[in-house]
Order: sequence, then structure tokens, then C-alpha cells
Amino acid sequence: MEAKTYYNADADLKFLHDKTVAILGYGSQGHAHALNLKDSGVNVVVGLREDSSSRAKAKNEGLKVYSTAEAAQKGDIVMVLIPDQYQADVYEQEIKPNLSDGNALAFAHGFNIHFDQIQPDTNVDVFMIAPKSPGHLVRRVYKKGSGTPCLIAVDQDYTGTAKGTALAYAKAIGGTRAGVLETTFKEETETDLFGEQAILCGGVSELVKQGFEVLTEAGYQPEIAYFECLHELKLIVDLMYEGGIERMYYSVSDTAEYGGLTRGAEVVDEVNKERMKEVLKRVQNGAFANDWIKENEDGIPKLKELRSQLGDHQIEKVGKQLRSMMEGILEEESEVDEAAE
Ligand code: NAD
Ligand code: MG
Repeated sequence: MEAKTYYNADADLKFLHDKTVAILGYGSQGHAHALNLKDSGVNVVVGLREDSSSRAKAKNEGLKVYSTAEAAQKGDIVMVLIPDQYQADVYEQEIKPNLSDGNALAFAHGFNIHFDQIQPDTNVDVFMIAPKSPGHLVRRVYKKGSGTPCLIAVDQDYTGTAKGTALAYAKAIGGTRAGVLETTFKEETETDLFGEQAILCGGVSELVKQGFEVLTEAGYQPEIAYFECLHELKLIVDLMYEGGIERMYYSVSDTAEYGGLTRGAEVVDEVNKERMKEVLKRVQNGAFANDWIKENEDGIPKLKELRSQLGDHQIEKVGKQLRSMMEGILEEESEVDEAAE
């Protein structure tokens, strides 16, 4: 492997002995980190807003809950797991005044540090532990004795032990059981933004919508187009996830394989690749970050408009009806998925 990778033997929980880890936020990542750390014997506190609906949940799960500021004050390591767009404000108001010399400020995504929305004082460590799974899986696989691969990066090493502490944290949430890959805040942030924009969220959705439009505009029934362009995507993605693109092509019919291999590159060609490079450039030069920060300052008007446009698209309306017919199988499948995990 090219990326430097760490396993259990490379990480030592001693870096967390006598330390308190403050987990700020109790959403997808927050609950998983807090519970895994606790089960690994680490002293954990959770920081939440006074009015947060997650307070009762965290308490019921045996965690000590404080206000965000109190938790930041108690924590030697402060892990920020609130939504990225609120982190800078919360940092200024509630975290920064409560960080002491030699504390560590930790993140699960690099956006705010990389784009200088948070500029920590020089007398703290700054690192990232980014699990490559949603939180419920980080928790579920930990309980079964395995782990989720994580990315690790150190942006600021004031104490000289930032990497040891970061690796210990990764071990305590189960990451080193699977493997922890070394990266930088820059690489993690830029690749994450590019991936979600060009492929995962943006690119795939547009491909699906346009395929649906081509079929319906040619006179085919929207329900049939929905199945072909959206519903069946899951099967294909599951095969790729399991065994790559070759595994997918091995499992589909020879007709699908030949048609896909010859026609796919006609649809998504060099022109698309050049556009992807443009998207990457705007991620790298900060234009996207500035756009998104300004959008938040303005109260997300464009995002609201785009959400409503998407809701009006025929594929979403047809999808709602068809999925209500499929409630039975969708439920069944998610139970099978859970059993498989
Ligand atoms: P989430 O939306 O699931 O949870 C956010 C939590 O923060 C909630 O408990 C919410 O109540 C709390 N919160 C919201 N606004 C707040 C505020 N102003 N002050 C204090 N608390 C507030 O978020 P998440 O998906 O767990 O993301 C947390 C971090 O983890 C982000 O940096 C994200 O990029 C990163 N991350 C997420 C995933 C994922 O799969 N969800 C994977 C890797 C990294
Ligand atoms: Mg910086």
C-alpha cells in the first residue's frame, strides 16, 4: 500500500491514560465515538447544547453530559463532532476559551482547519481521526470486535505526542483493528469535497436524473424509467463495494457487460473528466469553500431553492409512490443488511 497504515500494535492507549476526552455533539459520529471510547476504558464526557434533544439519549447510554463549554473545559482532548458549518462559531464562543496549554483539538473532517475557518492557538495539538463509515457502523462493528478504517492526520504537534494521542484515539474507537491510513488535512478535505461533488452525491444523482429524463422524454413510462435508472443502482453499487468494478461486470449478464464497457465511455467521456478537473480546481483554490461559507452567512437561500427544485422533479414524485408499494421489500432488505453487518 502506498499510504502509511497503522494497526493495533502501532497504537498505545497509554496516551489516553489520565486524560478526559470531550465529545462535542451526539449525532452520527458523536454517539459512536463516545460509546466506543467509554467501552475502551477511556474517560469520556459529552458536550451538548442546553436544549439539545440528544441529552437524554446520551445520559441513558451511561455518559456524563455537560454544556459544550463545560465539556470543552473538562476535556484534555476535545473532539468536535457537530455539523461542519457551525464549528467555527462554536469554537470561538465555547471551545477556544476553554482550551488549556497542551490540550488537543480534534476533528473528523478537515474543512474548518484546512480553510482557516478555525485557527487554533499554537499551544494545542490539532489532529484528525476520520472514520470512513457513518457513525452507526463505527459503533456496530466495534461491538462485534472489529473496526472501521480511519484516516489520521496531524496539523499541529505542540506537545510532541500528537500522533501518539491520535493513534490511541483511533485505537479506542476501533479504527486500528481495521487499519488507520495517514493523510493530511489538505488531502482529506479536498478529496472528500471532490468525491461528494463530482461522483458520490452530485455526479451520480445527475446521471440518474438525466437517464430518467431521456427515457421519459422518449415516451417510456416514468415508473419503468425509475426502476432502470435509480432503483437498480443499489444492486450495482453493492457489487462494486464488495469486489470492485470487475466483480460488478462479472455478476451482470454478458450483454450488460458488453453494452456497459462499450457505451459507458461514450456518455461519460473526456469532456466530463475536464469538468471534473474544474470542480477539483475550485475545491483546491477555495472557491467552493468561500461559496459555501457565504451561502451559510446568507441563510442558505440557494440550498433551499435547489432542495425544492429537486422535490418537484418527476423522478422524486414517482419514486415516492413506488417506494410506498415496496415498503415490504425495502424493510426486509434493511433487516438483511443489518444482519449481515
Ligand atoms: P450530525 O449532524 O449527525 O450530528 C451533529 C451533532 O451536533 C448533533 O448531536 C447535534 O445536536 C449537534 N449540534 C448541532 N448544532 C450544534 C451547535 N450549534 N452546537 C452544538 N452542537 C450542535 O453530524 P455528523 O454527521 O456526526 O458529523 C460530525 C462530524 O463528523 C463532521 O465534521 C463530519 O464532517 C464528520 N464526519 C461525518 C461522517 C458521517 O458519516 N456522518 C463520517 C466522517 C466524518
Ligand atoms: Mg490552517
